[in-house]
Amino acid sequence: MTLRVLALHAHPDDLETFAAGALTLLAKAGATIVMATLTAGECGSTANSPEITGAVRRGEAATAARLIGAHYRCLGAPDLGVFNDAPTRRAVVALLREVRPDLVLAAPMADYHPDHEAVGRLARDACFAASVPAYVAGEAPPLPAIPHLYWIDPVGGRDADGRATPADLVVDISSVITEKRQMLAAHKSQADWLRQQHGIEDFVAAMEVQSARRGAPYGVAFAEGYRQYRGHPFPREPLLQTLLGPYRVDRQGSPPSVDASGG
Ligand SMILES: [Zn+2]
Repeated sequence: MTLRVLALHAHPDDLETFAAGALTLLAKAGATIVMATLTAGECGSTANSPEITGAVRRGEAATAARLIGAHYRCLGAPDLGVFNDAPTRRAVVALLREVRPDLVLAAPMADYHPDHEAVGRLARDACFAASVPAYVAGEAPPLPAIPHLYWIDPVGGRDADGRATPADLVVDISSVITEKRQMLAAHKSQADWLRQQHGIEDFVAAMEVQSARRGAPYGVAFAEGYRQYRGHPFPREPLLQTLLGPYRVDRQGSPPSVDASGG
C-alpha cells in the first residue's frame, strides 16, 4: 500500500515555502501527496479583485503541486478569515476522509499569521474527529485511525513571540532545492505583492535564506524542520523520522532507507 500524505496550510505558496523539500523527497520515494490550502489567498494582491486573485493563485498552486506529481485542493475558506469553527472543521474532516492520509504535515499552531495558526488547530482537531464514527462530514467513511501529525516550521523558524521553534527532525533538502525553487516560483502572482506588502524583493531567495538558516547549524546548505504532535491519543511512532531517515541531519546514526511505496 502506498503511503498517503496530506499537506495542509493556509495560503497558496505556504507549503512551497516551508515544506516543499520534504514533500519532494516523499514524492520521489513513491508517496501519494495531496497539497491543500484552506484559502485561495485572494487578499494577496493590490492590483486585482479578490475573485481574480483567488482564481490565479489556485492555478499557480495546482501547477506547483503537479511538478512533484501531487494533487492540489483548496477548501475555499476566506483569506484572513480562517477559524477553527464547526463548518470549517467539518470541511477539513471531509478532506481527511477523502484523502485518507497516513501522514499529515500542517501549519504550526504558533506563527505570525492568524490563518496559519487556525490551520494548525484545525488540523489537530480534524485529525482527531476524522476517526470518530458519529461525527458526520462528507461522503467518505471515517478514518480507521488518527493519522500521524507533524507541524511545519513557522515563518522565520520562530513562533508568535519570536522564540526559535524546536524540531523533532531536521531534513537536509539540499538535493531537492531546485524542485523547491521551481514549485515556489510557480506562484508568479506573488512577486509584486510580497515586494509591496512584506518588503521581500525576491520571494524565492527569501525561501532559500530560511532553508539555509535551518541547515546552517548542521553544516548542510538547505533544510526544513518538523515537529511531531504527540498529544493524546495521536500516534507517536516516528513515521516521518523513519521515512526521511537518510536525510536527517539532527542526529547521528544509521537511518533506514526511504521506501514510501510500501512495496
Ligand atoms: Zn500564509
